[in-house]
Amino acid sequence: MQDAYGRQIDYLRLSVTDLCNFRCQYCMPPEGVKKQQHRAILSVEECAEIAGAAVRCGVGKIRLTGGEPLVRRGILDICRRLRALPGLEELCLTTNGSLLPQLAGPLRDAGVDRLNISLDTLRPDRFSRLTRLGRLEDALSGIRAAEEAGFSRLKLDTVLIGRFNDDEIGDFLQLTLDHPWEVRFIELMPMGPCAAWDKGCFLSGETVLERYPALEPLESQGVARRYRLPGAKGSVGLISPVSHDFCGSCRRIRVTADGHLKGCLHSREEIPLRGLHGAELEAAIRQGIAQKPERHRLALGASDTPRNMNQIGG
Ligand code: SAM
Ligand code: SF4
Repeated sequence: MQDAYGRQIDYLRLSVTDLCNFRCQYCMPPEGVKKQQHRAILSVEECAEIAGAAVRCGVGKIRLTGGEPLVRRGILDICRRLRALPGLEELCLTTNGSLLPQLAGPLRDAGVDRLNISLDTLRPDRFSRLTRLGRLEDALSGIRAAEEAGFSRLKLDTVLIGRFNDDEIGDFLQLTLDHPWEVRFIELMPMGPCAAWDKGCFLSGETVLERYPALEPLESQGVARRYRLPGAKGSVGLISPVSHDFCGSCRRIRVTADGHLKGCLHSREEIPLRGLHGAELEAAIRQGIAQKPERHRLALGASDTPRNMNQIGG
């Protein structure tokens, strides 16, 4: 379905929990989030119902996210239910990777087509400091498990953080020489805990190109401008929501773990979907698409959403 600005909306990001086994400093407060009552979060049935209605409204790709989707009880059930939807072309999932050693195989069997794994540093001490609860070796084992389970063309998502990991850009690029992965550098967006961070933490994606002029441009894909080091097996993506906003070609809608449709990650506007079924649910999704804001206003300083990223799903 097209929105009011002629954009084709065919991609749903569905958050299946706001809980996480990490507490990344830019995403969550150190104490985590209060565990909501079970019924405050979409049930497996509701996830499937909303996804089905979205597919009937023209969505062909769904990404499961969170919080950490792999801590969600019933995640495999959700995957199986979504995979069975007629008309769904691609089922993807974004994870911090730590539970993939146990779950990569079952996720593949449940019909997940593609995985994105978030990895902000390759240094064990930094990893523990940034995630507060995570261990680098678990995330790396997760990447290996994903490959062994048959997930190819893995994407590794790295948030660029000034004075934290910008001295590791070269190490991440090095990974693409030997592995068929796409390493994607994402600009840190000022929202939630990091909204108040020092300006020096916010680096533009151009930093990567300035420091590594050998990167050769490839065809863009979705929101990523893509490059390759000469002779590399993998590729490099730059996702620059702040410096090069891609609002004009945005194809996404989002549903929060508590069942609110968001036309834009950074907007305050939300449409509650819970309790709606059949034609009413579809009508609400169509309304959300029709009302999708033209653009965000991140370049002016901050996100307008009062939610933290773990509630929306990135
Ligand atoms: N827990 C999963 C993970 O970390 O991949 C999925 C949810 S997480 C909210 C999705 C993505 O959003 C992660 O890659 C994370 O690094 C990114 N993210 C969170 N806060 C961000 C921010 N302020 N700016 C840019 N990316 C952010
Ligand atoms: Fe958890 Fe992902 Fe947020 Fe890190 S970025 S705290 S892994 S939801």
